Amino acid sequence: MTINNVIDVIHKNHPEADTSLLELAYEYAENAHAGQKRMNGTDYITHSLATTLHLAQMNLDMPTIIAGILHDVPEDTERTLEDIEKNFGEEIAMLVSGITKLGKIKYRGLTRYAENLRKMFVAMAEDIRVVFIKFADRLDNLKSLSFLPPVKQQRIARETLEIYAPIANRLGMGELKGELEDLSFPFVYPEEYIWVKEVAEKKYEERKKYTNQIMRRIERELKENSTIKINKIEGRAKHYYSLYQKLLAKDRDIDKIYDLVAARIIVRGVDDCYHTLGHIHKLWTPVPGRIKDYIAQPKPNGYQSLHTTVYGDDGRIVEFQIRTLKMHEEAEYGIVAHWSFKESSNTKARIPIPPEKLKWIKELLEEQKKITSPKRYLKALKLDFFKNRIFVFTPKGDVVDLPENATPVDFAYYIHTNLGHKCAGVKINDTISTLSTALKNGDVVEIMVDKNKLGPSEGWLSFVQTYQARHRIKEYFNKQRKLNIFRFFSR
Ligand code: MN
Repeated sequence: MTINNVIDVIHKNHPEADTSLLELAYEYAENAHAGQKRMNGTDYITHSLATTLHLAQMNLDMPTIIAGILHDVPEDTERTLEDIEKNFGEEIAMLVSGITKLGKIKYRGLTRYAENLRKMFVAMAEDIRVVFIKFADRLDNLKSLSFLPPVKQQRIARETLEIYAPIANRLGMGELKGELEDLSFPFVYPEEYIWVKEVAEKKYEERKKYTNQIMRRIERELKENSTIKINKIEGRAKHYYSLYQKLLAKDRDIDKIYDLVAARIIVRGVDDCYHTLGHIHKLWTPVPGRIKDYIAQPKPNGYQSLHTTVYGDDGRIVEFQIRTLKMHEEAEYGIVAHWSFKESSNTKARIPIPPEKLKWIKELLEEQKKITSPKRYLKALKLDFFKNRIFVFTPKGDVVDLPENATPVDFAYYIHTNLGHKCAGVKINDTISTLSTALKNGDVVEIMVDKNKLGPSEGWLSFVQTYQARHRIKEYFNKQRKLNIFRFFSR
């Protein structure tokens, strides 16, 4: 691989892009890393190039691509960060410095894990592009993992499954998440990997054939009976690791997995999505309870699509995913789809990420700044971040993003501490419900307040799901206890 491979990718997307600074950065990095070898015996610069190639393929902006080629320079060579700033400017130096900071993790075990996560979130809050470089770096490291000693293999692969993939998922980067997981899977669960591979391969050919047949039928239907133009239609095989997780949830029975090969239809507009769904249901009977409208109600990470599962021609079940091209790009590349410099002949103009898409990172960071014990930090993150998320609504229609199984009390504390303390009842979708009810995606939640209520009830601690609610309730009772002692002594 050479720098020309990277330049070709950039020029494919942006014929007029000026790559002269990138070429300089390449020479600079090659000189700096001269003589260094990787564990697999190749020159070190091949790793920098591979990282940069990933960034170019993600269609990221030029400073990120250049920072990619320089990302290991201050850490592993004589050249300093100041030197990089002098040569390539402040923005690129900042990005490289972000990567260097992420690399320096001193601890072991649980503390290392917590520290690692915390640093990722700090980096994301400062400049999300640092995390994209880290992802690209990790992708290449995973590809040469077999050359490392087993202990290191384990650590890197596990860290990828536990930290990098969930973050990629939260950023809506579905394709990258799948890649990271599939590269790590064989190292973390070798036997399970072999098992999944075997069961999947056996079924795959047959399902693929069947899905193709179904897709030809819907293609013909749309051509003959509608004006819908199909942009792309494909049978998409599920990633191994996500298949594995689904198998665990379905009694390890592959016949219960309907999207082993999903039929994906990409059309022009939102209207066409719903019309296509109608045509599918005209041809085949939908399986009850499996129609999902993620267009009207996107997943918290931004994913949009219509899903339906139907009984196909001979009663065999198949899943359809219908979306527009824009939704498709967001599903594959997530937040990166906003950062790239495409859709513009002027390569300097990039579309900034809407700030509300990153708000949760700052909130998470703010909320967890106070937690110093690594154990509690991880517990809080497990509660809030690594759970699947649901969307619920305030009566005014504002969206609140909560972990799965969150209750009205969690909702109340999310809105405001006092709403939590004074919360006395709840209406979910206009029906009076109990405060411990697990909320579901799309619920409209109206908290009923008792102004005379003094504070929360200690029993809430047995069902709240978010760190925030738990923390606020405990804080309240700790304060009460202190006050009582004070009152006792001042009597
Ligand atoms: Mn690296």
